[in-house]
Amino acid sequence: MSIADNLLKYKNELDLAGVKLVAVSKNHPADAALEAYNAGQRIFGENLVQEMVEKQEQLPKDIEWHLIGHLQSNKVKYIAPFIKLIESVDSLKLLKEINKQAIKNNRVIDCLLQIYIADEDTKFGLAFDEAIELLRSEEFATFKNVRILGLMGIATNTALEGQTKAEFQELKVLFDGIKLSFFRKEDSFKEISMGMSSDYKLAIAEGSTMVRIGSNIFGKRVIKHWKTEKE
Ligand SMILES: *Cc1c(COP(=O)(O)O)cnc(C)c1O
Repeated sequence: MSIADNLLKYKNELDLAGVKLVAVSKNHPADAALEAYNAGQRIFGENLVQEMVEKQEQLPKDIEWHLIGHLQSNKVKYIAPFIKLIESVDSLKLLKEINKQAIKNNRVIDCLLQIYIADEDTKFGLAFDEAIELLRSEEFATFKNVRILGLMGIATNTALEGQTKAEFQELKVLFDGIKLSFFRKEDSFKEISMGMSSDYKLAIAEGSTMVRIGSNIFGKRVIKHWKTEKE
C-alpha cells in the first residue's frame, strides 16, 4: 500500500473514533510527508529539531508541526516561531525557556506535559509527583505565554498487552486528577496523546485523544542520523 492509502485508512478509522492523527514523519524525507499532505493530512510529528526545521522550510505552511521528542532548552528558539504543539515538555526549566521564546515571538505556545509511564530507563518524561510539583510551583503560575493542553505518554515497548493497557490507564487517571485540580475551568486542557503504530487501538480504548503513528503510515524509517544529538 502507498503512503496515501495507509494514511486514508488511518484517517477514516480515527475520524470515526474522534481521535486526532499525528503522522510521524521522522526519518523519512520531506517527499514522504508531502505525499501524506496531498492525501489530506495536516498534523505531522518529528522528534528532532533540525529535521523538523528543514521540513518546515520545504513543505506547505499550513502544516501543524508537533514536536514529540526530547527538547533541549537551547533549541527551543529554532521552532518557537512556527511550532503548533510541543508534546514533550519534561521539566520546569524547559517550560521556562518555551515561555521566554514565545514572548519573543509574540505568541502563546501550546504544550503537553510528557509523563513517564513506561517500565524502561530510556524514556524521558516527568514522574507523576514531578508533574504535580511543576503545576503547583509559583514559577509556573508566571508563565503567561505557554498553555498546557494535556498530557503525553509513551508505553513500554512490550508484547504484553496487559502492561501497555495498565500504563495507558495510569496516564488517564493522572489526566483526570490534574484536570480536576488545576484545569477544571479550562476547556483547552483536554488532550491525552498516547498510542503509536503498535498500540494505538489499546490507547484509544483507554481514552486517547491523539495518536502518533509513524511506521504504519510511512514504512520503515530510512534517514539515518549519523550524529546523535548530544546534551
Ligand atoms: C517514533 C515515535 C512515534 C511513532 O512510532 P511508530 O511506532 O513508528 O508509530 C510515536 N511517538 C514518539 C514519541 C516517537 O518518537
